[in-house]
Amino acid sequence: MTARLLDGRALARQVRSEVAQQAATLAQRGVVPGLAVILAGDDGASAIYVKNKEKAAAEVGIAGQVLRFPATVSAAELSACIARLNADPAVHGILVQLPLPSSIAPAEARALLEQVDPRKDVDGFHPANLGRLAAGDPGLVACTPAGCMRLLAEAGVHLAGCHAVVIGRSTIVGRPMALLLLGADATVTICHSRTTDLAAHVRRADVVVAAVGRARLVRGDWIKPGAAVIDVGMNRDADGRLCGDVHFDEALAVAGALTPVPGGVGPMTIACLLENVCRAAAQLHPATSAASIHSLWPAEDR
Ligand code: NAD
Repeated sequence: MTARLLDGRALARQVRSEVAQQAATLAQRGVVPGLAVILAGDDGASAIYVKNKEKAAAEVGIAGQVLRFPATVSAAELSACIARLNADPAVHGILVQLPLPSSIAPAEARALLEQVDPRKDVDGFHPANLGRLAAGDPGLVACTPAGCMRLLAEAGVHLAGCHAVVIGRSTIVGRPMALLLLGADATVTICHSRTTDLAAHVRRADVVVAAVGRARLVRGDWIKPGAAVIDVGMNRDADGRLCGDVHFDEALAVAGALTPVPGGVGPMTIACLLENVCRAAAQLHPATSAASIHSLWPAEDR
């Protein structure tokens, strides 16, 4: 068997064009969706991610702004910025680019993320949004897991009743991913760094989502023939090449569907972020007519 490759770039193009239509509809009703990104410090990778988000936002008609701070910024300064953005009616999405510089203690970083108005938390990292997802009443959902769900839907994977194994339990990827799969009626196993015999769990899975951060951890002989495999990992191997958490060449011969790295989950993350900005804008402006704004999304997606 050769797995069907799930093309995240193509699907992300499609999602971005849907988002552009949503943004245009909102703009016609007087609401230009706005995204504010807080970028503190001089982390090179973060600067590239933020630039990509800014460009992607502009392309779909979202008004983007980047608030830049030096690596010496204090938590109080960032807190004042978040308070201002929370109160700004032109800003519908607020994103604090991680990691924050070392001038911000971990507890301060957590407090800053929690200060973001949950209705503007387009990263879906706020405990209120994670809690809503756990309660089965999703608000804004973390972008990477949301993108994985879109990829599974695109692959035509029937999730109800299937056994899904999520490897990784971070609040950014693993946990919300498991909750989304549970919400779609899959039977979900969450594996993590303390799991014994990871391979045995993966062998029973109809759907595997790997979000670990270890190059080629998941081997081909772990995969049930025909399983759908979503590889979230972004790693550099010993030769400096970008690769996922799944051994791609081995998995290709066994899986039914497989995401490549790069070109799988990555492009979907940004597309789902843009979608969240439009969703937040519509929900923050119910006066733009609830019925017509709701019609922007299919009923099962609300
Ligand atoms: P994280 O470090 O916060 O979490 C990693 C998880 O993997 C932990 O829950 C840990 O328990 C688990 N783990 C570690 N070693 C393990 C092992 N040997 N067996 C089983 N589980 C193990 O990482 P994260 O933020 O969740 O990201 C995971 C990966 O996904 C990284 O490679 C990251 O770069 C990538 N990522 C990609 C995107 C994207 O858009 N493509 C977005 C977010 C994260």
